[in-house]
Amino acid sequence: MKELWLRKGEDRRLRAGHLWVFGNEVDVSKSPLNAFTPGEEALVRDARGQALGCAFVNPHSLICARIYSRKAGQALDGALLRERLETALALRERCFDAPYYRLCHGEGDVLPGLVVDRFGDHLTVQIGTAGMDARKEQLREVLRSLLSPASILWDNDLASRSLEGLARDNDLEGDVPEELDVPENGCRFLAPCRTGQKTGWFYDQRRNRAEAARYANGVQVLDIFSYAGGFGGTAARAGASSVTFIDASQTAVDYAVRNAARNAPRLADADAVKGLCGDAFACMEQLYEEGRRFGLVCLDPPAFIKRRKDAEQGKAAYRKANALAVRLLEPGGVFVSCSCSHHLPAETLRGLVALAAAKNHRQGRILYAGGQPEDHPVHCAMPETAYLKCFIAHMS
Ligand code: SAH
Repeated sequence: MKELWLRKGEDRRLRAGHLWVFGNEVDVSKSPLNAFTPGEEALVRDARGQALGCAFVNPHSLICARIYSRKAGQALDGALLRERLETALALRERCFDAPYYRLCHGEGDVLPGLVVDRFGDHLTVQIGTAGMDARKEQLREVLRSLLSPASILWDNDLASRSLEGLARDNDLEGDVPEELDVPENGCRFLAPCRTGQKTGWFYDQRRNRAEAARYANGVQVLDIFSYAGGFGGTAARAGASSVTFIDASQTAVDYAVRNAARNAPRLADADAVKGLCGDAFACMEQLYEEGRRFGLVCLDPPAFIKRRKDAEQGKAAYRKANALAVRLLEPGGVFVSCSCSHHLPAETLRGLVALAAAKNHRQGRILYAGGQPEDHPVHCAMPETAYLKCFIAHMS
């Protein structure tokens, strides 16, 4: 195995358990990065020569190496992939009684860049690193022997793949369904699998959706940035008197409306499920002008901050969205505010909720502060693996 030498003092983070090596931390005089092919294994050594673990290298990426094992000389082969996935599977089986979950959450499961979602017999796999991409065949074998899936959708349409210099074409294996049928919190949700700009289901909001639905009984619910209606659909089943969805994608809105009707037929019969396709900011303005007010408003925007340099601009978008959403609450309404941007700290989001309350002359009190569920584990030495925040606040 080749060696990757770090510069003096650059071993601290790795010794504390972190898995990433950045290009500027490498002693390129001892181990030039361009001597590595993308995905190649290397033994990482500190400046004094002590071994820190094994990593796969990508000379074309800012994160030039990712540790996959602390054991010197350990190859990232089928046996190790199997061991890691078995560990991940055992954790999920301990937490969930049905095979619907994120089976592997990249670094959180010590498989850098590998995300696997399990929908019963069907798997969706996202590979975001050259190291994992180079081991796709071993991975296929391990997934087959571990789970015997009816289909695997290799979903390669990821922005992170471009950063790693990887192609972005999808690859379908077996009988990939058009639609997924996902049980969650006593509901059932249909979601597109092969079509649309989005595929699959966002399992990460499972617990937050259940928490939000506790405040749905007897009130009108607004689900903003709804995708297939996870929040509103759960609220519908929990006794909402009406549900309105907003999303920029017509496919998403159609699924959301169908899902709410499916989980609460009484609402469909009463014509109390509505979908608005359009820009969420404009739709929120419009609802306000029409005088619509809601007892429960769920706001779950896409990641407005993808890279650190977008932080200020993205924060402004969160600030505006939160203010517009709170304006639509009736007195005593409940507000659910989420962010999936790693670069927006929880404390900042709490501040934006407070600001939205103040701007609208409301008193807010936080009832719940949530994050990622167990199938999206946060690696305890890697704050980068924590991304999801959810506050639920009562506003009088
Ligand atoms: N709340 C959803 C997940 C939301 S994902 C759930 O629980 O599953 C973010 C959604 O925002 C996507 O469906 C995307 O189509 C939508 N979106 C992105 N930009 C938008 C905009 N400007 N206005 C409305 N919807 C938008």
